[in-house]
Amino acid sequence: MLALAGHDLGITVTTLDPTVDSPSAQVAPAIVGAYDDRAALLALADGSDVVTYEFENVPAAGTRFLAERGATLRPTPDALAVAQDRLAEKALFAEVGLPIPDLAPVDDLDSLRAAIDAVGLPAVLKSRRLGYDGKGQAVVRHEERAEDAWRSVGEVPSILESLVAFDREVSIVAVRDADGDVRAWPLVENHHRDGILRTSIAPAPGDDAPALQRLAEVHARSIMERLGYVGVLAIEFFVAGDTLLGNEMAPRVHNSGHWTIEGAATSQFANHLRAVGGLPLGDTSMAVGAAAMVNLIGTVPQVLTQLDVPGIHLHLYGKEPRPGRKLGHVTVTASDPASLEASLLQVTPHLADA
Ligand code: AMP
Repeated sequence: MLALAGHDLGITVTTLDPTVDSPSAQVAPAIVGAYDDRAALLALADGSDVVTYEFENVPAAGTRFLAERGATLRPTPDALAVAQDRLAEKALFAEVGLPIPDLAPVDDLDSLRAAIDAVGLPAVLKSRRLGYDGKGQAVVRHEERAEDAWRSVGEVPSILESLVAFDREVSIVAVRDADGDVRAWPLVENHHRDGILRTSIAPAPGDDAPALQRLAEVHARSIMERLGYVGVLAIEFFVAGDTLLGNEMAPRVHNSGHWTIEGAATSQFANHLRAVGGLPLGDTSMAVGAAAMVNLIGTVPQVLTQLDVPGIHLHLYGKEPRPGRKLGHVTVTASDPASLEASLLQVTPHLADA
């Protein structure tokens, strides 16, 4: 989607990906190589004005290697490194005044027991690194299950976080350019199943949405300024009453921002490229009354039969189907939230995965 947005802006996107048939390789020049393959990294940087990433588990060491060789990395390797460590990420949230769930670091079974005493149960044990879409997580409800949880996250450095009885989950997708111009898209309400994002609704409904939007934008701005951030950043929050609790951030274009392709004046993809490429940022306001994004996970269901529904937009990524894998998404746009709900009721039964 970045490569496609780049085409419109006259920006050629070359990608580095370990697989031959990556989604980007199907639409743009691609280098096939491991993310830590130095020759491949240098080939990428040599042909590029700026290097960015859209997957946060790219090794930070590879981006540091390129930065040391004089390449321009946006966002910086430091921003990537913070987002790769749940403990560092939560410390940053706390530092800029974004409330976080109670948590404690866990390095072994003894510290897990101490963390349970400090945080209380129920709680979630999350590996500090390489977790996304609910991977590397285990809910601990009873102390006697602590050992099972420790084993299930892989006995690696982790955090134990109290299980939040949130009202709903929202995210803000924001962008900052090298001159410090910051813009944010409307706050989005997210629905997960099995730890994987299923649906995003924009703008987030509810009378409290404008106040939450203002709050989320303040936090996004503080985090980006603190990191000297350039590019798109997403922050996921739990809403508890009138408070936002920081869950995690993604230093990249984000799944909860995919609706912006059709739903906003400028998409997250176009604005990410504008920011990292030194171009003026575009308008992030809604281009339609309401929009929803539904992920196609595991299998591509009967969605082709629904292409005549007004406001439906299909995006398939050209990936091999696999359980739990995001294969594409559908965006539904409408003039207002009520029409959006009607369209969603019509198409959603055809989008459910097997
Ligand atoms: P994460 O990978 O941390 O975003 O977690 C995936 C999903 O698990 C979140 O979007 C929530 O639905 C749920 N989750 C994660 N952490 C917590 C928590 N501390 N309390 C309640 N639910 C959580």
